[in-house]
Amino acid sequence: MVKPPLVIVGAGFTGLFTALHLRRHNHLHSIVLIDPQEKFSFKPLLYELLSGELAEDAICPTYESLLEGSDINFVQDRVTDIDLSGKTVVTQSGASYGYQHLVLAVGSVQGYRHTDGAEDHAFPFRSWDEGKRLERHLRDCLKRARAAADPAERQALLTTAIVGGGPSGVEMAATLADLLPYWYEKLGGDGQELRILLLNHGKDILSGDSNAHLRSAALRAFRSRRISIELLPQVAVTSVRKDQLTYSQADGTHPSTLPACTTIWTAGTELHPLIRQLGSQIPSEHLDHHGNPLVNSRLQLLDFPEVFAAGDCATVQGDPQPALAQVAYQQGTAIARNLIALAKGSQPQPAAVRLRGTLMKMGLGEGLANLFDKMIIESTAGGLIRTATYLELLPTPLRDFKATVHWLDEEIFSRTIHELQHRTSANERPALSPADRRARRQVQALAMLAPLAFLLATAFALRTPPAEQNLSPPQTTGTAPSPGSSTYP
Ligand SMILES: Cc1cc2nc3c(=O)[nH]c(=O)nc-3n(C[C@H](O)[C@H](O)[C@H](O)COP(=O)(O)OP(=O)(O)OC[C@H]3O[C@@H](n4cnc5c(N)ncnc54)[C@H](O)[C@@H]3O)c2cc1C
Repeated sequence: MVKPPLVIVGAGFTGLFTALHLRRHNHLHSIVLIDPQEKFSFKPLLYELLSGELAEDAICPTYESLLEGSDINFVQDRVTDIDLSGKTVVTQSGASYGYQHLVLAVGSVQGYRHTDGAEDHAFPFRSWDEGKRLERHLRDCLKRARAAADPAERQALLTTAIVGGGPSGVEMAATLADLLPYWYEKLGGDGQELRILLLNHGKDILSGDSNAHLRSAALRAFRSRRISIELLPQVAVTSVRKDQLTYSQADGTHPSTLPACTTIWTAGTELHPLIRQLGSQIPSEHLDHHGNPLVNSRLQLLDFPEVFAAGDCATVQGDPQPALAQVAYQQGTAIARNLIALAKGSQPQPAAVRLRGTLMKMGLGEGLANLFDKMIIESTAGGLIRTATYLELLPTPLRDFKATVHWLDEEIFSRTIHELQHRTSANERPALSPADRRARRQVQALAMLAPLAFLLATAFALRTPPAEQNLSPPQTTGTAPSPGSSTYP
């Protein structure tokens, strides 16, 4: 009898990397990987999708292209039910899959804190389609603002409110403060008419986050953006409409209305509905206070050891980890190792997760790199390290290599080295002004720093391990299900 497959629910950082790692290690068991999306979203680089700084198919490659040449059975569908005792997964299309092992990796969903109108009118920013939708909306607002005769209407179209002073809100504010004036000036508008407001419930941005000690550097970066970012601390947004939002002080006093045609919501995440449903099958003492299941150090559900869960939708008992891609990625790899161990009759091992610092985008071409909590690198150098690090992490080695080379070529050779050569040979040029001399020194420093940045990035990054550097299909005897079959015994 054919063994039921390994079913992986969710092909994000945890699920995709579990699958890739297994295949590279020639784990022969058949794998069904289920996700409703057509494309993987490399979330830390979604801002580059908005700004067009990196190629779309590098940040959000299709699963088809990522899994090409492997025998992983990718099913584009949404899992709607899981029966843990019956070991069955059911999808929206009505297909059902029995499993021997299950990997739960659905992440979390955007939370709106029950704010009136937020779900309907605010823009989330967590995936390729949400990124594209926001881009279309922002460009449309700028176009309409150019044509608007009424100054109040124009101002609302040119005002963007970002809700949430965590890392996503901060990175979004910094990106838009460079990007929107650029787009608007290309349409013939005056960039200084734009307003960007960052509304935060707490007193400080990045509070209680793994990026908290980057706060001063982030505020410094805010001050050097193309347009200023208005910070509204200690406020609670009470409603969102198509063309305005209302907020009050955090204690509920002083209600105000802000005319704004764009509200971007980055404040908080919520329990995934599928995980909420599973709550009835798991003893309540084995759920954390959000409702996510607790897993042991080997990332298995406490009551169902054949089920692994990790990333944003699970909490390691006694050792909770932050909701980060670098955690999810390492946990995915650990799950793969444990599945291989189980297949060989060995004991699964605790997943060791090492946090190696944090990276933030702080405007076009700029960033903050906190390396091993020991060193903070700001500005262009920080941006170089961030981008190089994430390009190293992109899941396909061929794509990874191409994207890295293309980006380094653009960024370092075209902009830096060529500029240096050009300037050095241009003896006939008039003497440089002090500002130009400073800029030139910066360019020279950058040219020297670039290889170092790349080395640092390589050391810092959770590199795509050699394990994932070749997706050639294993030499199996063919236990994988045929693409059409969706029900397993
Ligand atoms: C804008 C943004 C920027 C970020 N920047 C950083 C950063 O700079 N550094 C960092 O470390 N982390 C960052 N994060 C956090 C990081 O992306 C997450 O912690 C990480 O993606 C979690 O991985 P995961 O596998 O748990 O979930 P995800 O990567 O979210 O994957 C979940 C997958 O499950 C799929 N899914 C959902 N529902 C179902 C269903 N019913 N059936 C089947 N599949 C389903 C989804 O389509 C998705 O592909 C960022 C997040 C966002 C939103």
